Amino acid sequence: MHQKSLSHTIYKKLCEVIPGGVNSPMRACRGMGQPPMVVESGEKDCITDVDGNKFIDYCGSWGALIHGHANPRILENAAKRMAMGTSFGITTAIEEQLARRVVEIIPSIKKIRFVNSGTEATMTAVRLARGYTGKKIIVKFDGNYHGHADFFLVKAGSGVTGLSPTSSSAGIPEEVVKHVVSFPYNDVKTTRDFLRNNEVAAVILEPITGNMGVVPASSEFMKMLREETAKQGALLILDEVITGFRVALKGAQSLYGVVPDITCLGKIVGGGFPVAGFGGREDVMNHLAPDGPVYQAGTLSGNPLAMEAGYQALSMLDDKKFYSELERKTKILIDPVLKLIDKQNLNLCLQHCGSMFTIFFGVRSVKNQEEAKKSDLDQFAAFFRHMYSNGIYIPPSQFEAWFVSIAHEDSNLEKTRDIVLDFLENSRGNNILA
Ligand code: PLP
Repeated sequence: MHQKSLSHTIYKKLCEVIPGGVNSPMRACRGMGQPPMVVESGEKDCITDVDGNKFIDYCGSWGALIHGHANPRILENAAKRMAMGTSFGITTAIEEQLARRVVEIIPSIKKIRFVNSGTEATMTAVRLARGYTGKKIIVKFDGNYHGHADFFLVKAGSGVTGLSPTSSSAGIPEEVVKHVVSFPYNDVKTTRDFLRNNEVAAVILEPITGNMGVVPASSEFMKMLREETAKQGALLILDEVITGFRVALKGAQSLYGVVPDITCLGKIVGGGFPVAGFGGREDVMNHLAPDGPVYQAGTLSGNPLAMEAGYQALSMLDDKKFYSELERKTKILIDPVLKLIDKQNLNLCLQHCGSMFTIFFGVRSVKNQEEAKKSDLDQFAAFFRHMYSNGIYIPPSQFEAWFVSIAHEDSNLEKTRDIVLDFLENSRGNNILA
């Protein structure tokens, strides 16, 4: 990025008044060897920065925008809703419509409570699990990210990964995390032994992680977690903030055939507005105030404008062909890359599920955070810059997922494919070739 660009000037000004110039750390693009862009607008599969440069976007608001940017149906309906008033702090009928849609789509969710962010959803799901079971211990997994509540920032994924050798945040007293244990993802034996020998309130996981890059739970791991939690009286919480409505209409749980006690949703459920939710078994959900003793509240929770956007977003997923079309589009980009990796035995891997994927540099496969951390971050940064300079915006971290939306044009996917292949083919000898 040119030092005299408007993006650069605005970013410098942002840094004067906002820590790191950003309202969420990953946006600072640290480690990518260039300052972050400042976005002006988005349309379909593209974003345009304040200097007028256009990029094909694979961040998609970190997976929220499955319909692409500025989807006309979402915008029109949100605009109509906005004209009726933006927030009341009083119940509106649209809350029932979105809740019913979710309940109809995801069989394990009998009731849902809406909040404003994934962080609130997971944080409250844990409180609810503790309130329901009367137990304290929470089991999580290294490299999974469940938002930024204190007790989740231990060996976490996403932006926390690089924070300290242990991927944990400062500012969290030991006492706060003393009832939280974090195990290697996909480690069946360690987790099973622990569950059998301790009083656990809940196990929480991303069924297919996005936050250490795309890493699926093994079927054996998922099966064990469901069976053992049920046997020991612990709740199973699936954090489907990314995977919900992304990897399949009914989320990752439908791919594994697992029925969680609580599911956390976010991103897509808000259609690009700040909405998240947690829902599940009726007896568990009825423990929430005002019916039960577990407290949760929010001034803007269930905000009608955001509910409308979410309702429209989910309504457009009902089309039977939606997910097959999304997969077809994704394959345009990833299949040739997978082929090249295989044919030339390259020292990297592409892991994917549906329309989310990650290219890990310097490793042949990744099944947990320890393996993800062995990735070649310099190579990734060079790749990021290569893509950026060719008008493609990918999430600025090795430990994140790319997201394809239904608005991605085939021609833009083909263009992206060619630019990826060009990088891989021309970076030989630079740690990519075996
Ligand atoms: N859970 C998962 C799996 C996420 O990926 C995220 C955010 O990326 C969260 C929870 C937290 O959501 P939010 O950023 O809306 O607080």
